[in-house]
Amino acid sequence: MMKMKPNKTAVLTMDIEDWYHTEYLKGTSCDRSYTMLDGLDVFAGILEEHNIRGTFFVLGELVASIKDQLRDLQSRGHEIASHGWQHDRPIAVGTNAFAEELGRCKKTLEDALGSPILGYRAACFALDRDHLQTIMDVGFGYDSSRIRFAENPLYGSLNLDDFTQLSRNIARKDDFFEFEISTWPMMGRDIPVAGGGYLRIFPWLLMKSLIRPYLRSNDLYVLYVHPMDLSRKTNAPLPQEISRLQRLRFNTGRQTTAGKIRKLIALLEESGYRFRSFASLRKELMAESPDAV
Ligand SMILES: [Zn+2]
Repeated sequence: MMKMKPNKTAVLTMDIEDWYHTEYLKGTSCDRSYTMLDGLDVFAGILEEHNIRGTFFVLGELVASIKDQLRDLQSRGHEIASHGWQHDRPIAVGTNAFAEELGRCKKTLEDALGSPILGYRAACFALDRDHLQTIMDVGFGYDSSRIRFAENPLYGSLNLDDFTQLSRNIARKDDFFEFEISTWPMMGRDIPVAGGGYLRIFPWLLMKSLIRPYLRSNDLYVLYVHPMDLSRKTNAPLPQEISRLQRLRFNTGRQTTAGKIRKLIALLEESGYRFRSFASLRKELMAESPDAV
């Protein structure tokens, strides 16, 4: 039987973490009283302008301090999901400790929001099949951590041989879905065209030249950004040992990201994409084919 192809769908997401959760700042002493979470409001504002519902993956340790904002986002139709507890890469912890962490994240969010949490995204996309199984066993309904980007040693490699591939970037096993982060080849390398630091640092015309062919030949586009990519604050108190190159990388392009996201939304609309949260896309896919594949 032919599988029904989903319509072209864009899911705009934010990983809610603060500047000091960045991987290369791990192990340094950061002044955690300085926050760049104001970028969350900037992103939520852009989604509101365009009447778009998105998905927000939040770190467990931040939930208590931004509970009201999360409730507000949820009441506006956005989806809240989990980004782990404190941005440890899952493949760096054992599966038992990971299961405990996931359970704590899920409960903390569900207690704060009063509704089930379905989605998870790994810190640094660092997942393997064993840790994905843990996510499934703990009771999540989908994951969005897979990325074809072997060049970055932080990222895991996720084998989905026992999943059914519904399209290039959506895979399913029973009622669990894997939504892949968008990448596109440039000079023989897969470049994330999904945002993050790339959207912030790359000039828009370069990003657009990569995103356009991606949109033509795919059904799912996933954007991910962080509050710090959109923060209006500058001069985070980076520890002294941070190199000049890392400082440059940390600070480049922050003022341009909001404008790039608006241009991206226009490009997605022109290309026939409609906007959904992952939870609502999963619901649609399950309604199209209710029996486990
Ligand atoms: Zn993250």
